Amino acid sequence: MDLKHVWYEKIKKCLRNRYYLRKLIKKIQVTPWLMNNRLYCNIYNNRIKYMIKEPLTQIPEFINIEATNACNAGCVMCTHSIMKRKAGFMDSRLFKKIIDEISYLKNSNKTSIGLNNIGEPLMDPYIIERVKYIKGRGLKVTFYTNASLLNKESSLVLINSGIDKIGFSLDAFMKRTYERIRRGLNFEITLNNILQFLTLRKKLSKNRPEVIITLIKMKENYNELRRHFIRWKSLVEDVVISDVHDWAGRIKVNGVNSPDIAPQIKRWPCRDLWENLIILYNGDVVPCCVDYDGEMILGNLSKDSLKKIWQGEKLQIMRQLHLNREFNKLPVCKNCLKHRSWW
Ligand code: SF4
Repeated sequence: MDLKHVWYEKIKKCLRNRYYLRKLIKKIQVTPWLMNNRLYCNIYNNRIKYMIKEPLTQIPEFINIEATNACNAGCVMCTHSIMKRKAGFMDSRLFKKIIDEISYLKNSNKTSIGLNNIGEPLMDPYIIERVKYIKGRGLKVTFYTNASLLNKESSLVLINSGIDKIGFSLDAFMKRTYERIRRGLNFEITLNNILQFLTLRKKLSKNRPEVIITLIKMKENYNELRRHFIRWKSLVEDVVISDVHDWAGRIKVNGVNSPDIAPQIKRWPCRDLWENLIILYNGDVVPCCVDYDGEMILGNLSKDSLKKIWQGEKLQIMRQLHLNREFNKLPVCKNCLKHRSWW
């Protein structure tokens, strides 16, 4: 681990339990006076240059594999209800082929696999087998779940599966808010499932998987953020609060573009293009989760290799368009408000 990384981790740890400090830093980062300041823009551009690996790595650092796009909820901020792709599950042979290639080309111990895209991973009957296969190939694995389908048995299996990190998407402090956002789910069931999972992990004296609680900030839950943060900060390893976005204008969500909830900010090249790839359950590869219906397909892993797609012409053109700030030339990127900071 280099010195910069050590300091970065120290700062992250220090911020972990400080709600107001995190809020303040986030607010400062997106204020127009900073965003339009020449000195800051120079520093930020240099940061981007530093983060962009030249030459390109063989494969991305984070790869999300859509084990399934089926879901048991109808959340207000999700595109699942308007998705044109049929519900399906990734074929096991294709899955193993992908993992084998990743394991062969992995970038030391940095490469990490997520088992999500659009869909609830616990709907996939092979999810535990998949986790074990990934761990057996020496890779990190994580997934985000709405936790509604967890029970004692599946929690125990998951804790013992070797999964490195699990994110529980809760999105609210109050029952009424939760059930308004996560339509079709029951607050008490989800809460009990998460608490049961944490109790079992403690009983087994395991510090793995790392658990994080996630919340997507929107108008519905804006007044509950602090209470939500305080409820969970001492129980889990991290509480992540992210800004809502409207999936490149495909859905209407309360709070998008609101200065307090999800402010519109200056556009920079998208970090996803240099760090992530998404593999849809049929093997199609897309650059990011916003492309939920596969409008910008880069290739298919039943016939192409991941390395070829990652270093291939289609993605290189996309990257160059982003570096030139020509976002309008890309069908999904042109209206995309999703922002991942380069810090
Ligand atoms: S700008 Fe948006 S749509 Fe384009 S690659 Fe980034 S996240 Fe995806």
